[in-house]
Amino acid sequence: MKRIKIEFPVTILTAIVVLGVTFSGYLVYQSLSQIVDSIHREARPDFKLLQIKDIAADLTEVESTVRLYSVTRDEKYFHPYKQINQSIQKKLTNLEDYAQTSEEQKMQIDSIRQLTNAKLAVWKEILVLHHAREDAHESFTDLYTKIDSARTEPDTILVEVEAPEKKRGLLKRIFGGKKKDPEIIEQIQVQPVDSNTIDKDSIKQEIAQIENRIRTTNQTISVQEKALLEENIILSELLKTLITKLETDERKKLLEKTQEADRLAAITYKRLALFTLGSVTLLLLVLFLFYRYLNRSRIHQNLLHKAKTDAEKLARAKEVFVATVSHEMRTPINAIYGLTEQLIKKTDNNKRKKDLEIIYTSTEHLISLVDDTLDFSKIESQKLKLAKDDFSLSKLLTEVIVLNKGKAKSKNLRLKLDTDGLEPIVLRGDAFRLKQILINLVNNAIKFTDQGSVTLKVSAKENKWRKIWVSIQVIDTGIGISKENHSLIFDDFVQLETDLTRKQGGAGLGLAIVKKLIDVQKGKISIDSELSKGTTISLEIPYDIGDPSKIKQAKQETLTIPDHFSSLSILIVDDEEFNRYLLRSILEKWNINVAECSNGQQAVDLYKKEHFDLVFMDIRMPVLNGLEAAKQIVQQNNAAKIIALTATNKPDDIEKCKQAGMQQFLPKPFTEKELLASLSEASAPQHTQDELRKKEEAKAQIDLSELKRMANGNISFVNEMLEIFIRSSDSGLSEMKKNIALKNWDMVREYAHKMAAPAKHIKALNLYSKIKEIEHEARLGENEQEIIKLSTEIEYEVKTTNRYLKSILEDQ
Ligand code: ADP
Repeated sequence: MKRIKIEFPVTILTAIVVLGVTFSGYLVYQSLSQIVDSIHREARPDFKLLQIKDIAADLTEVESTVRLYSVTRDEKYFHPYKQINQSIQKKLTNLEDYAQTSEEQKMQIDSIRQLTNAKLAVWKEILVLHHAREDAHESFTDLYTKIDSARTEPDTILVEVEAPEKKRGLLKRIFGGKKKDPEIIEQIQVQPVDSNTIDKDSIKQEIAQIENRIRTTNQTISVQEKALLEENIILSELLKTLITKLETDERKKLLEKTQEADRLAAITYKRLALFTLGSVTLLLLVLFLFYRYLNRSRIHQNLLHKAKTDAEKLARAKEVFVATVSHEMRTPINAIYGLTEQLIKKTDNNKRKKDLEIIYTSTEHLISLVDDTLDFSKIESQKLKLAKDDFSLSKLLTEVIVLNKGKAKSKNLRLKLDTDGLEPIVLRGDAFRLKQILINLVNNAIKFTDQGSVTLKVSAKENKWRKIWVSIQVIDTGIGISKENHSLIFDDFVQLETDLTRKQGGAGLGLAIVKKLIDVQKGKISIDSELSKGTTISLEIPYDIGDPSKIKQAKQETLTIPDHFSSLSILIVDDEEFNRYLLRSILEKWNINVAECSNGQQAVDLYKKEHFDLVFMDIRMPVLNGLEAAKQIVQQNNAAKIIALTATNKPDDIEKCKQAGMQQFLPKPFTEKELLASLSEASAPQHTQDELRKKEEAKAQIDLSELKRMANGNISFVNEMLEIFIRSSDSGLSEMKKNIALKNWDMVREYAHKMAAPAKHIKALNLYSKIKEIEHEARLGENEQEIIKLSTEIEYEVKTTNRYLKSILEDQ
């Protein structure tokens, strides 16, 4: 829930930040691109204006060429004039291309063109005028020619008769190039005129006429030229004004563009500032939310951590409580259990024996239940390991019925076992747990039924995977359970509010344990019940098919008591009278001399006065506890043999006992067989002691604690592992030796590799290191002597270890 809460605003804010950044980025980009665009445009030259200025410069050149030509009459100035003229026309045409679409610009271009053309026309006119002046001077030339020819050629002269000249227009005469030589069509012989015959007066007259004509022409030309030059000045002024205007316009535009760029830059700065401010604000907001979330989650984490620590403390307290209660229960149960065992053995009356056996089995079950209570946390955390025993279903059902018969009878209820159609089958699985489940359910059924019957209905079916599903119904005609409570009753510590429940007591754990036990066995449980009509609890559990030959028979073992027991004197130290009584009655039966103390201080005092071969020492005692008492006894006699009577077998407690100087531990409740084994070991004569020492030696080389931890208390698993180790190490060793003889090093290495892991599991470290050495040597395959030496050492280690392991197995 919390996750969704923080993710939502962070997502929204991030989306806003991203949108804001994108939008601002877009705006900034737009402004920047506009600025760049305007810079580009500014950087571009105004070709139109340049062209116009170029045309103006060309016009000035036209002016100078015409002037030069007029003055020098040199043809070389006339050609540039024509070229410039053409170039101006071209530029005028180009100017139209640069023209923008605006009307004002079109008009400006038109005016420029008109003015230029007008100027060109003026200069053309001036040129024509100059030609006219030239023509006037040609009249003198003709006259002089006539006079010269009359003086120099007195004989007949050939007169060439020219073809009549076609009349040429004014422009043709200006632009048509040189005047062609006249076409000579006839040569006539004429008599020269005598120079004296030339009429001086007519010449004078002609000269006067010519001068007159030239003067008149010059005057006219000058007037015209003046007019033209004035017109040119006006046109030049106009052109200049137009160009100035264009330049002013251009400057104005430039100014506008600069202002526009400034404006855009200002907008961009504003946008950038806004963008930065917005981004920073939003980021700060996201950071704030993030840190707030971190802070909160840290607070939550601390709370969770505290809750976890509290829960762990509570769980530990629960464990300690359960352990203490179980320990307190163990003491009286131990007494009942042991005494019943003794009574069964002593009594010859069959009827009484049967009753005592029921007490014995019930006590046995009670002990298991105490263990169960201890194991409850294990069941909860699914650490419970299930046994795989072969058992007869019908025998187990009969035991359940027998156990509950008395109770049913006392309430006048019929307790029935309905196994119609059930074959006598052997199952493989945890028989103890099934019995525990059924005792619980039948117990409840009897508890909550006042009249009628309790039926245990059982059937079994094999499925295609060779699993036998056992279906059991515990049917009663009791008070029933209302529908709304059906789902509750399998919860921990649930007791329904009924008068009967209050009367019956209980912890509300029975059905919870049943449900958990069925769950770990992958079974199912359901309830069908109606108030006042009765309850049916149905369960189904899958089992493997069992082997009838492997069913463990409860055998009454006859114990062999060693002869030297009769010479022993033993001190029992226990504050619990039941325990002392139980132990004393067993030891006395074995002809052992027994003394008793009820606390540690008494034991220390008595030990000072009397000699004892062995002391059985309880741990928790008033005045002086077992640990302190043991220490003081060992101080008196460091060869003192003390066996601790412990209610727990926790490694911590065992370590404390060891430190106090106690050599052995006998967990309560113990069987007669266990007591015998413990006493035999502690009181063994010297030669047996030597064997024990050897065992100890071997024991020192290995450590089974890890294997036991893995087995989680399952002794049969440990034994199976030990048997496998003995078998595999023996066969591995013989195979290794065979391959050494054949010098087949690869196979030697392979067998060594196979033997290494099991040796490591039981922590046979000497053996393990030798195996690793031989594996290494076999890989090299160079040093045969070393391999043979190592194999001999391995053989010794395997034999010593296996001897010890076998002794462990035999002892059980
Ligand atoms: P307890 O050990 O206290 O009996 P259980 O877990 O076995 O607790 O049962 C829980 C509650 O379920 C009981 O207190 C009782 O009210 C109800 N209940 C269990 N079995 C039956 C039954 N066969 N008929 C009626 N009520 C039952």
